[in-house]
Amino acid sequence: EPMLSGDFATLMGWADQVRRLKVRTNAETPLDAETAKKFGAEGIGLCRTEHMFFDPARIGAVRQMIMASDERGRRTALARLLPFQRQDFIDLFRIMAGLPVTIRLLDPPLHEFLPHADGELEEVAEALGTDVEAMRRRAAELAEANPMLGHRGCRLGITYPEIYEMQARAIFEGAIAVAKELGRAPVPEIMIPLVGARRELEITRAQVEKVAAEVFEESGTAIDYVVGTMIELPRACITADKIAGVADFFSFGTNDLTQTVFGLSRDDAGKFLPAYVDAGILPKDPFVSLDVEGVGAMVRIAAERGRATKPGLKMGICGEHGGDPASIAFCEEVGLDYISCSPYRVPVARLAAAQAALGAGDDRTA
Ligand code: PEP
Ligand code: MG
Repeated sequence: EPMLSGDFATLMGWADQVRRLKVRTNAETPLDAETAKKFGAEGIGLCRTEHMFFDPARIGAVRQMIMASDERGRRTALARLLPFQRQDFIDLFRIMAGLPVTIRLLDPPLHEFLPHADGELEEVAEALGTDVEAMRRRAAELAEANPMLGHRGCRLGITYPEIYEMQARAIFEGAIAVAKELGRAPVPEIMIPLVGARRELEITRAQVEKVAAEVFEESGTAIDYVVGTMIELPRACITADKIAGVADFFSFGTNDLTQTVFGLSRDDAGKFLPAYVDAGILPKDPFVSLDVEGVGAMVRIAAERGRATKPGLKMGICGEHGGDPASIAFCEEVGLDYISCSPYRVPVARLAAAQAALGAGDDRTA
Protein backbone atom coordinates (compact mmCIF):
# COMPACT_ATOMS: atom_id res chain seq x y z
CA GLU A 1 0.00 0.00 0.00
CA PRO A 2 2.13 2.88 -1.21
CA MET A 3 -0.25 5.57 0.03
CA LEU A 4 -0.17 4.51 3.67
CA SER A 5 3.22 3.35 4.87
CA GLY A 6 5.43 3.07 7.94
CA ASP A 7 4.07 3.97 11.37
CA PHE A 8 0.88 5.24 9.85
CA ALA A 9 0.18 1.88 8.22
CA THR A 10 0.88 0.18 11.57
CA LEU A 11 -1.53 2.51 13.34
CA MET A 12 -4.19 1.83 10.72
CA GLY A 13 -3.66 -1.89 11.21
CA TRP A 14 -4.42 -1.50 14.92
CA ALA A 15 -7.46 0.58 14.15
CA ASP A 16 -8.74 -2.10 11.81
CA GLN A 17 -8.41 -4.76 14.49
CA VAL A 18 -10.50 -2.72 16.89
CA ARG A 19 -13.23 -1.22 14.75
CA ARG A 20 -16.61 -2.80 14.11
CA LEU A 21 -17.92 -0.35 11.51
CA LYS A 22 -16.95 -1.12 7.93
CA VAL A 23 -15.60 1.85 5.99
CA ARG A 24 -16.69 2.42 2.43
CA THR A 25 -16.31 5.34 0.10
CA ASN A 26 -18.47 7.68 -1.92
CA ALA A 27 -17.10 7.40 -5.44
CA GLU A 28 -18.30 7.51 -9.00
CA THR A 29 -15.08 7.93 -10.97
CA PRO A 30 -12.43 5.24 -11.44
CA LEU A 31 -9.84 7.62 -9.97
CA ASP A 32 -11.84 8.16 -6.78
CA ALA A 33 -12.52 4.44 -6.46
CA GLU A 34 -8.82 3.60 -6.88
CA THR A 35 -7.73 6.29 -4.43
CA ALA A 36 -10.23 5.16 -1.83
CA LYS A 37 -9.20 1.54 -2.22
CA LYS A 38 -5.56 2.46 -1.59
CA PHE A 39 -6.70 4.26 1.55
CA GLY A 40 -8.42 1.06 2.68
CA ALA A 41 -12.03 1.51 1.59
CA GLU A 42 -13.92 -1.75 1.87
CA GLY A 43 -16.39 -1.00 -0.89
CA ILE A 44 -18.37 1.81 -2.45
CA GLY A 45 -21.20 3.01 -0.24
CA LEU A 46 -22.52 5.59 -2.66
CA CYS A 47 -22.03 5.99 -6.38
CA ARG A 48 -23.94 9.12 -7.38
CA THR A 49 -24.88 8.28 -10.95
CA GLU A 50 -26.09 11.78 -11.81
CA HIS A 51 -22.48 12.96 -11.69
CA MET A 52 -21.72 10.61 -14.58
CA PHE A 53 -24.39 12.31 -16.67
CA PHE A 54 -22.55 15.63 -16.84
CA ASP A 55 -19.76 14.13 -18.95
CA PRO A 56 -19.51 16.36 -22.07
CA ALA A 57 -19.87 13.32 -24.34
CA ARG A 58 -23.28 12.50 -22.95
CA ILE A 59 -24.89 15.63 -21.51
CA GLY A 60 -26.53 16.17 -24.92
CA ALA A 61 -28.27 12.80 -24.68
CA VAL A 62 -29.20 13.55 -21.05
CA ARG A 63 -30.89 16.81 -22.09
CA GLN A 64 -32.62 14.95 -24.90
CA MET A 65 -33.93 12.39 -22.39
CA ILE A 66 -35.26 15.02 -19.99
CA MET A 67 -36.72 17.28 -22.65
CA ALA A 68 -38.47 14.58 -24.69
CA SER A 69 -42.20 14.90 -24.18
CA ASP A 70 -42.94 11.21 -24.74
CA GLU A 71 -41.59 7.83 -23.81
CA ARG A 72 -40.37 7.10 -27.33
CA GLY A 73 -38.18 10.21 -27.33
CA ARG A 74 -36.80 9.31 -23.91
CA ARG A 75 -36.04 5.77 -25.01
CA THR A 76 -34.09 7.00 -28.03
CA ALA A 77 -31.93 9.18 -25.77
CA LEU A 78 -31.53 6.42 -23.22
CA ALA A 79 -30.29 4.03 -25.90
CA ARG A 80 -27.50 6.56 -26.51
CA LEU A 81 -26.68 6.64 -22.79
CA LEU A 82 -26.71 2.90 -22.11
CA PRO A 83 -23.21 2.07 -23.48
CA PHE A 84 -21.64 4.90 -21.45
CA GLN A 85 -23.41 3.87 -18.31
CA ARG A 86 -22.53 0.19 -18.79
CA GLN A 87 -18.86 1.14 -19.12
CA ASP A 88 -19.08 3.30 -15.96
CA PHE A 89 -20.15 0.26 -13.96
CA ILE A 90 -17.69 -2.11 -15.62
CA ASP A 91 -14.88 0.24 -14.55
CA LEU A 92 -16.10 0.42 -10.94
CA PHE A 93 -16.77 -3.33 -10.61
CA ARG A 94 -13.32 -4.09 -12.00
CA ILE A 95 -11.56 -1.74 -9.59
CA MET A 96 -13.53 -2.87 -6.57
CA ALA A 97 -12.93 -6.52 -7.55
CA GLY A 98 -15.63 -8.21 -5.52
CA LEU A 99 -16.02 -5.58 -2.80
CA PRO A 100 -19.57 -4.24 -2.43
CA VAL A 101 -20.58 -1.46 -4.84
CA THR A 102 -23.69 0.53 -3.99
CA ILE A 103 -25.08 2.26 -7.05
CA ARG A 104 -27.68 4.90 -6.50
CA LEU A 105 -30.11 5.31 -9.34
CA LEU A 106 -30.49 8.79 -10.77
CA ASP A 107 -31.18 11.57 -8.28
CA PRO A 108 -30.78 14.64 -10.41
CA PRO A 109 -31.03 18.24 -9.71
CA LEU A 110 -33.38 18.44 -12.70
CA HIS A 111 -32.70 22.15 -13.22
CA GLU A 112 -29.05 21.35 -13.93
CA PHE A 113 -30.06 19.05 -16.77
CA LEU A 114 -32.33 21.59 -18.45
CA PRO A 115 -30.92 23.44 -21.46
CA HIS A 116 -30.50 27.17 -20.92
CA ALA A 117 -28.08 28.61 -23.48
CA ASP A 118 -29.32 29.10 -27.05
CA GLY A 119 -26.79 26.57 -28.32
CA GLU A 120 -28.08 23.95 -25.87
CA LEU A 121 -31.69 24.62 -26.86
CA GLU A 122 -30.83 24.35 -30.56
CA GLU A 123 -28.95 21.09 -30.04
CA VAL A 124 -31.76 19.43 -28.13
CA ALA A 125 -34.38 20.72 -30.57
CA GLU A 126 -32.48 19.12 -33.40
CA ALA A 127 -32.05 15.83 -31.55
CA LEU A 128 -35.78 15.69 -30.87
CA GLY A 129 -36.81 16.93 -34.32
CA THR A 130 -38.56 20.02 -33.03
CA ASP A 131 -37.91 23.77 -32.83
CA VAL A 132 -36.25 26.00 -30.29
CA GLU A 133 -39.52 27.66 -29.24
CA ALA A 134 -41.04 24.29 -28.35
CA MET A 135 -37.93 23.54 -26.31
CA ARG A 136 -38.19 26.85 -24.46
CA ARG A 137 -41.77 26.03 -23.53
CA ARG A 138 -40.83 22.52 -22.39
CA ALA A 139 -37.95 23.85 -20.28
CA ALA A 140 -40.32 26.37 -18.66
CA GLU A 141 -42.77 23.52 -17.97
CA LEU A 142 -40.08 21.46 -16.25
CA ALA A 143 -38.56 24.34 -14.28
CA GLU A 144 -39.27 24.22 -10.54
CA ALA A 145 -39.33 26.86 -7.83
CA ASN A 146 -37.74 24.44 -5.37
CA PRO A 147 -35.77 21.80 -7.29
CA MET A 148 -34.32 20.22 -4.14
CA LEU A 149 -37.86 19.50 -2.94
CA GLY A 150 -39.19 18.69 -6.36
CA HIS A 151 -39.04 16.24 -9.20
CA ARG A 152 -35.92 14.38 -8.12
CA GLY A 153 -34.86 11.03 -6.72
CA CYS A 154 -37.26 8.15 -7.20
CA ARG A 155 -39.98 10.60 -8.21
CA LEU A 156 -38.24 10.86 -11.56
CA GLY A 157 -37.80 7.09 -11.74
CA ILE A 158 -41.52 6.68 -11.18
CA THR A 159 -42.70 9.28 -13.66
CA TYR A 160 -40.14 8.17 -16.29
CA PRO A 161 -39.58 4.46 -15.53
CA GLU A 162 -37.40 3.96 -18.61
CA ILE A 163 -34.60 5.92 -16.92
CA TYR A 164 -34.18 3.49 -14.03
CA GLU A 165 -34.67 0.61 -16.47
CA MET A 166 -31.72 1.80 -18.53
CA GLN A 167 -29.57 2.14 -15.42
CA ALA A 168 -30.55 -1.29 -14.09
CA ARG A 169 -29.73 -2.80 -17.49
CA ALA A 170 -26.32 -1.09 -17.48
CA ILE A 171 -25.64 -2.42 -13.97
CA PHE A 172 -26.59 -6.02 -14.76
CA GLU A 173 -24.89 -6.11 -18.16
CA GLY A 174 -21.77 -4.54 -16.64
CA ALA A 175 -21.74 -6.95 -13.70
CA ILE A 176 -22.12 -9.98 -15.98
CA ALA A 177 -19.29 -8.74 -18.24
CA VAL A 178 -16.98 -8.32 -15.23
CA ALA A 179 -18.04 -11.69 -13.79
CA LYS A 180 -16.90 -13.36 -17.01
CA GLU A 181 -13.64 -11.42 -17.00
CA LEU A 182 -12.68 -11.91 -13.34
CA GLY A 183 -14.30 -15.28 -12.80
CA ARG A 184 -16.13 -13.79 -9.83
CA ALA A 185 -19.43 -11.94 -10.01
CA PRO A 186 -19.79 -8.50 -8.41
CA VAL A 187 -22.83 -8.21 -6.15
CA PRO A 188 -24.42 -4.89 -7.10
CA GLU A 189 -26.28 -3.07 -4.37
CA ILE A 190 -28.87 -0.96 -6.13
CA MET A 191 -30.08 2.00 -4.12
CA ILE A 192 -33.23 4.06 -4.62
CA PRO A 193 -33.00 7.74 -3.61
CA LEU A 194 -35.49 10.01 -1.85
CA VAL A 195 -37.97 7.34 -0.86
CA GLY A 196 -40.68 8.61 1.47
CA ALA A 197 -43.25 5.85 1.06
CA ARG A 198 -43.05 2.08 0.89
CA ARG A 199 -44.96 2.06 -2.38
CA GLU A 200 -42.22 4.11 -4.08
CA LEU A 201 -39.71 1.42 -3.25
CA GLU A 202 -42.10 -1.34 -4.31
CA ILE A 203 -42.58 0.27 -7.73
CA THR A 204 -38.93 1.00 -8.39
CA ARG A 205 -37.83 -2.36 -7.04
CA ALA A 206 -40.24 -4.07 -9.43
CA GLN A 207 -38.68 -2.11 -12.33
CA VAL A 208 -35.23 -3.34 -11.32
CA GLU A 209 -36.41 -6.93 -10.92
CA LYS A 210 -38.08 -6.89 -14.32
CA VAL A 211 -34.88 -5.72 -16.00
CA ALA A 212 -32.80 -8.26 -14.05
CA ALA A 213 -34.99 -11.08 -15.33
CA GLU A 214 -34.68 -9.78 -18.91
CA VAL A 215 -30.90 -9.43 -18.81
CA PHE A 216 -30.38 -12.79 -17.10
CA GLU A 217 -32.56 -14.44 -19.73
CA GLU A 218 -30.77 -12.73 -22.65
CA SER A 219 -27.30 -13.51 -21.34
CA GLY A 220 -27.99 -16.94 -19.92
CA THR A 221 -26.30 -15.80 -16.68
CA ALA A 222 -27.88 -14.82 -13.40
CA ILE A 223 -26.06 -12.94 -10.63
CA ASP A 224 -26.94 -11.97 -7.08
CA TYR A 225 -27.95 -8.40 -6.33
CA VAL A 226 -29.76 -6.48 -3.62
CA VAL A 227 -32.09 -3.49 -3.70
CA GLY A 228 -32.13 -1.00 -0.86
CA THR A 229 -33.07 2.55 -0.17
CA MET A 230 -31.71 5.85 0.95
CA ILE A 231 -33.31 7.02 4.18
CA GLU A 232 -33.15 10.78 3.80
CA LEU A 233 -36.63 12.10 4.45
CA PRO A 234 -38.40 12.34 7.83
CA ARG A 235 -41.31 10.39 6.39
CA ALA A 236 -38.98 7.53 5.51
CA CYS A 237 -37.69 7.46 9.10
CA ILE A 238 -41.17 7.43 10.59
CA THR A 239 -42.42 4.71 8.23
CA ALA A 240 -39.16 2.74 8.22
CA ASP A 241 -40.96 -0.35 9.56
CA LYS A 242 -43.06 -0.45 6.39
CA ILE A 243 -40.21 0.46 4.04
CA ALA A 244 -37.97 -2.21 5.55
CA GLY A 245 -40.40 -4.84 4.31
CA VAL A 246 -39.23 -4.19 0.73
CA ALA A 247 -35.62 -3.05 1.40
CA ASP A 248 -32.50 -5.21 1.54
CA PHE A 249 -30.58 -2.36 3.16
CA PHE A 250 -30.91 1.21 4.42
CA SER A 251 -28.40 3.96 3.77
CA PHE A 252 -28.86 7.20 5.67
CA GLY A 253 -28.58 10.25 3.44
CA THR A 254 -27.90 12.66 6.23
CA ASN A 255 -27.32 15.61 3.91
CA ASP A 256 -30.93 15.61 2.76
CA LEU A 257 -32.13 14.39 6.15
CA THR A 258 -30.49 17.39 7.81
CA GLN A 259 -32.04 19.67 5.20
CA THR A 260 -35.51 18.26 5.68
CA VAL A 261 -35.46 17.80 9.46
CA PHE A 262 -34.31 21.40 9.96
CA GLY A 263 -36.28 22.77 7.00
CA LEU A 264 -32.99 24.35 6.04
CA SER A 265 -31.66 24.54 2.49
CA ARG A 266 -28.40 22.67 1.95
CA ASP A 267 -27.43 25.18 -0.67
CA ASP A 268 -28.08 28.40 1.23
CA ALA A 269 -27.34 27.42 4.81
CA GLY A 270 -23.93 29.09 4.74
CA LYS A 271 -25.57 32.50 4.57
CA PHE A 272 -26.67 32.55 8.18
CA LEU A 273 -25.46 29.34 9.84
CA PRO A 274 -22.22 30.92 11.09
CA ALA A 275 -24.27 33.54 12.92
CA TYR A 276 -26.41 30.79 14.42
CA VAL A 277 -23.35 28.98 15.69
CA ASP A 278 -21.96 32.26 17.09
CA ALA A 279 -25.24 32.92 18.87
CA GLY A 280 -25.15 29.45 20.43
CA ILE A 281 -28.39 28.35 18.75
CA LEU A 282 -26.54 25.47 17.10
CA PRO A 283 -23.37 23.94 18.54
CA LYS A 284 -21.85 23.48 15.06
CA ASP A 285 -22.70 23.29 11.38
CA PRO A 286 -25.25 20.43 11.21
CA PHE A 287 -24.29 19.69 7.61
CA VAL A 288 -20.78 18.82 8.79
CA SER A 289 -21.35 17.23 12.19
CA LEU A 290 -24.55 15.31 12.75
CA ASP A 291 -27.16 17.06 14.88
CA VAL A 292 -27.61 14.21 17.32
CA GLU A 293 -30.59 15.76 19.11
CA GLY A 294 -32.79 16.17 16.03
CA VAL A 295 -31.44 14.45 12.93
CA GLY A 296 -29.82 11.75 15.07
CA ALA A 297 -33.15 11.06 16.76
CA MET A 298 -34.66 10.52 13.32
CA VAL A 299 -31.87 8.10 12.41
CA ARG A 300 -32.46 6.22 15.64
CA ILE A 301 -36.18 5.94 14.99
CA ALA A 302 -35.55 4.65 11.48
CA ALA A 303 -32.95 2.12 12.65
CA GLU A 304 -35.23 0.80 15.40
CA ARG A 305 -38.31 0.60 13.21
CA GLY A 306 -36.39 -0.94 10.32
CA ARG A 307 -34.92 -3.62 12.58
CA ALA A 308 -38.30 -4.28 14.17
CA THR A 309 -39.50 -5.44 10.75
CA LYS A 310 -36.21 -7.03 9.65
CA PRO A 311 -33.80 -7.94 12.43
CA GLY A 312 -30.24 -7.52 11.23
CA LEU A 313 -31.23 -5.26 8.30
CA LYS A 314 -27.96 -3.89 6.91
CA MET A 315 -27.58 -0.14 7.50
CA GLY A 316 -25.03 2.48 6.60
CA ILE A 317 -24.60 6.19 6.24
CA CYS A 318 -23.49 7.97 3.08
CA GLY A 319 -24.06 11.64 3.87
CA GLU A 320 -21.03 13.89 4.47
CA HIS A 321 -21.30 13.00 8.17
CA GLY A 322 -19.87 9.56 7.37
CA GLY A 323 -16.44 11.21 7.33
CA ASP A 324 -16.83 13.21 10.54
CA PRO A 325 -15.39 11.60 13.70
CA ALA A 326 -18.09 12.86 16.10
CA SER A 327 -20.81 11.67 13.72
CA ILE A 328 -19.04 8.32 13.33
CA ALA A 329 -19.24 7.85 17.11
CA PHE A 330 -22.98 8.30 16.80
CA CYS A 331 -23.14 5.73 13.97
CA GLU A 332 -21.36 3.23 16.21
CA GLU A 333 -23.81 3.90 19.01
CA VAL A 334 -26.83 3.36 16.77
CA GLY A 335 -25.25 0.15 15.53
CA LEU A 336 -24.91 0.94 11.84
CA ASP A 337 -22.92 -1.61 9.81
CA TYR A 338 -20.88 0.80 7.73
CA ILE A 339 -19.99 4.39 7.08
CA SER A 340 -19.24 5.78 3.64
CA CYS A 341 -17.20 8.90 3.05
CA SER A 342 -15.17 10.70 0.41
CA PRO A 343 -11.91 8.94 -0.57
CA TYR A 344 -9.52 11.21 1.34
CA ARG A 345 -11.50 10.81 4.54
CA VAL A 346 -11.25 7.01 4.54
CA PRO A 347 -8.14 6.86 6.80
CA VAL A 348 -9.68 9.30 9.30
CA ALA A 349 -12.90 7.30 9.23
CA ARG A 350 -11.00 4.06 9.96
CA LEU A 351 -9.38 5.67 12.99
CA ALA A 352 -12.61 7.30 14.15
CA ALA A 353 -14.45 3.98 13.80
CA ALA A 354 -11.82 2.31 16.02
CA GLN A 355 -12.05 5.09 18.57
CA ALA A 356 -15.84 4.85 18.50
CA ALA A 357 -15.67 1.08 19.09
CA LEU A 358 -13.43 1.65 22.13
CA GLY A 359 -15.67 4.45 23.39
CA ALA A 360 -18.75 2.27 23.04
CA GLY A 361 -16.97 -0.40 25.10
CA ASP A 362 -16.35 2.13 27.89
CA ASP A 363 -20.02 3.07 27.93
CA ARG A 364 -21.08 -0.52 28.28
CA THR A 365 -18.85 -1.17 31.28
CA ALA A 366 -19.71 2.15 32.95
C1 PEP B 1 -27.51 12.67 1.25
O1 PEP B 1 -28.56 13.28 0.98
O2 PEP B 1 -27.04 12.62 2.39
C2 PEP B 1 -26.78 11.96 0.20
C3 PEP B 1 -25.76 11.18 0.50
O3 PEP B 1 -27.14 12.16 -1.09
P1 PEP B 1 -26.84 13.52 -1.87
O4 PEP B 1 -25.84 14.30 -1.09
O5 PEP B 1 -26.36 13.11 -3.20
O6 PEP B 1 -28.20 14.14 -1.92
MG1 MG C 1 -29.61 12.94 -0.85
